[in-house]
Amino acid sequence: FEESEIENEADLKPRPPIVTVMGHVDHGKTTLLDKIQKTKIASKEFRGITQKIGAYQVEISGKKITFIDTPGHEAFTAMRARGANVTDIVILVVAADDGVKPQTIEAIQHAKAAGVQIMVAINKIDKPGAQPEKIMQQLTEYGLIPEEWGGKTIFVKVSAKTGEGIDELLEMTLLLAELMEYKANPKTLARGLVLEAKLDKNRGPVATILVQKGTLKVGDFVCVGAASGRIRALINDRGKRLKEAGPSTPVEILGINMVPEAGDNLIAVKSDKEAKLMAEKMLNKKKELQMQRMKK
Ligand code: GDP
Repeated sequence: FEESEIENEADLKPRPPIVTVMGHVDHGKTTLLDKIQKTKIASKEFRGITQKIGAYQVEISGKKITFIDTPGHEAFTAMRARGANVTDIVILVVAADDGVKPQTIEAIQHAKAAGVQIMVAINKIDKPGAQPEKIMQQLTEYGLIPEEWGGKTIFVKVSAKTGEGIDELLEMTLLLAELMEYKANPKTLARGLVLEAKLDKNRGPVATILVQKGTLKVGDFVCVGAASGRIRALINDRGKRLKEAGPSTPVEILGINMVPEAGDNLIAVKSDKEAKLMAEKMLNKKKELQMQRMKK
């Protein structure tokens, strides 16, 4: 970051926590993410108008949580490769009728390396073979010690199938977020990350951006990886058009000239010229990297 970007403490405002669900295959990540989205949104708004844009927000007593819902966690992987973080909190899902598995351990290692908070959701507690105590015991070997055993890690028993424990999981997430005091300055030009991107037959290049700081507005000039353009529309996870999107908000953007890559940065700038120049530099950088890779 350049010196001009150093933030004034007074400009930093609380922002919703950004949460990624990780864990071994078949332990229930997808089911959990779907259940959270359905239960929390259907109760408040029209049924079934949720969009799959790679991330969504839920609101619990006026407080928001942003969930990253990207297939295969592409962006998360790309981010890690660059040493940056997409997420604040990892919810580690472990099936109570199974146990700690290779991908569980991998998720713990990634989260620790990235310096993010880990919470544990012991899932599938509705199953007859569920042994939550066993999971708790196994995880102590990886430094995840439940609060009730004198440790610091939040464990919640859930069933992504029946919905049991989900409210508690969300409440605990908000509690942890409150402790961590996640903040960002909403008043600057936006910076964000590409979670997903595609070429839409009717709408042209579309990217889902997670706004990390500042506020992204319709009409803003942006550089997004090697793409550039001017924001024509912002669409949220309910398919609703927004005029602007603040920190921790996931939005689809329209108006860029090509499809960026998951993990690319979005940078809002003051002019079209600046956006194009930045995108060109990024394109050259990407070409260089590609050449280096080909030589190997
Ligand atoms: P992922 O690979 O981690 O995304 O796992 P999925 O969400 O695809 O779940 C794998 C299987 O476990 C599916 O058949 C789900 O229906 C099932 N499943 C997920 N959560 C629960 C749960 O809480 N209880 C029960 N009984 N089954 C579950």
